[in-house]
Amino acid sequence: MENVTKNNPTLSVVIPLFNEEESIGELYQRLKKVLDGLGKEYEILFINDGSTDRTGEVLKGLFQKDEKVKVIELRTNFGKTPALSAGFDHARGDIILSMDGDLQDCPEEIPLFIRKIEEGYDVVSGWRQQRDIPFFTRKLPSKVANWMIAKVTGVNLHDFGNAYKAYRREVIKDVKIYGDHHRFIPALVKGMGVNIAEIPVRNEPRRYGQSKYGLERIYKVFFDIITVKFLLSYSTRPMHILGPIGSFFGLLGVFLGLRLAYLKIFYGDKLGTKVSLSICVLCILLAVQIITSGLLAELLVRIYHESQGKPIYIVKQILEHSPS
Ligand code: UDP
Ligand code: MG
Repeated sequence: MENVTKNNPTLSVVIPLFNEEESIGELYQRLKKVLDGLGKEYEILFINDGSTDRTGEVLKGLFQKDEKVKVIELRTNFGKTPALSAGFDHARGDIILSMDGDLQDCPEEIPLFIRKIEEGYDVVSGWRQQRDIPFFTRKLPSKVANWMIAKVTGVNLHDFGNAYKAYRREVIKDVKIYGDHHRFIPALVKGMGVNIAEIPVRNEPRRYGQSKYGLERIYKVFFDIITVKFLLSYSTRPMHILGPIGSFFGLLGVFLGLRLAYLKIFYGDKLGTKVSLSICVLCILLAVQIITSGLLAELLVRIYHESQGKPIYIVKQILEHSPS
C-alpha cells in the first residue's frame, strides 16, 4: 500500500460473491485479460459472502494459482453491503473498483472507469442505460428510487444501485456503510467535496444462478432513503428535524385545548363528548413522544459517532499472498 507511485496508481478490484459458482471462472478469465493489459499493479479481491455452493472452492483454486488474487471469506451471508465493505477494508490499491460477480457487469469496461479517475474524478459510477429486467417489478421501482435518491441527496446520478463504481482510495476508505447502504456511497461521500462522474455501461442479462433480491427491496430502499436523508442532514443534530415535528403537534394540541377551555368556560360545553378533546390529548402526547425520541436520538448520535470501531462483518479467513 505504501509502495505507491503517484503516476501509476495501483488498482484493487472488489467483487462480492454469494453463490456464483458458475460465473467465477469466466469472470476471472476476462478480468485477467483486461487487468493484464492495463499496465498497472493490481489485485483482485473476491469476497465470498457465505456461499453455500462451490464458490469457496473455486475461489481457493484461483487463489492457489494466482498471487494477485485475494479471497476474503465471510462466516455467513452478511449481504452485499457488508461484503463490499470487507473488500474495501482489505483493498490496498489507490483506485478501488467494485463490481458484481455475476457477469452482468463487463470487466472489459474497467479501463473506462480508470480513465475517468485519471482525468481527476474521485468517484466514477456506472450507469446501466439498458437493462433487461421486468418493467413493473424492477425497472420502474429502480427509476423511482434513483430519482428520489438524487432529489433527496442532491447527487445527480441516474443509477445509484449499480455496484460498478470506482473510487479513489481516500474517498472510500473512511466510509462506513450499514444495512443495504452501498447504493448511497456517492451520496455519503458528497460531503467530502468529491467530484463524481457517471459513465454509461453495458448490463448483461444474468446467465447463471438467480438474482439474490426480490420485491422486498422496494420498501427497504424507500426507508433507506429516509435514513440516509436523516444521516446526511441531521445526523449530528436530530433535534432540528424532530423538534419542529414535535412542536407542530404540541402547538396543535395546546391550540385545541385552549379552544375547548374557551368553549367550556363561556358556553358551558360538555368536553367529554368532544372528539377534539381526544385529538388535543393525542397531539400533546405525540409531541412529548417525538421530542423525547429526539433527545434519545441526540444521545444515540453521540454513541454512534464515538464508537465507530464496531465491525459489521466477521471474517473467517483471508487467503493472501504475502505482499512483496
Ligand atoms: N451478493 C452478495 N451477497 C448477497 C447478495 C448478493 O455478495 O447477500 C452479490 C452477488 O453474488 C452478485 C452481486 O452481489 O455478485 C449482485 O447481486 P445480484 O446479481 O443478485 O443483484 P441484482 O443484479 O439482481 O441487483
Ligand atoms: Mg446481478
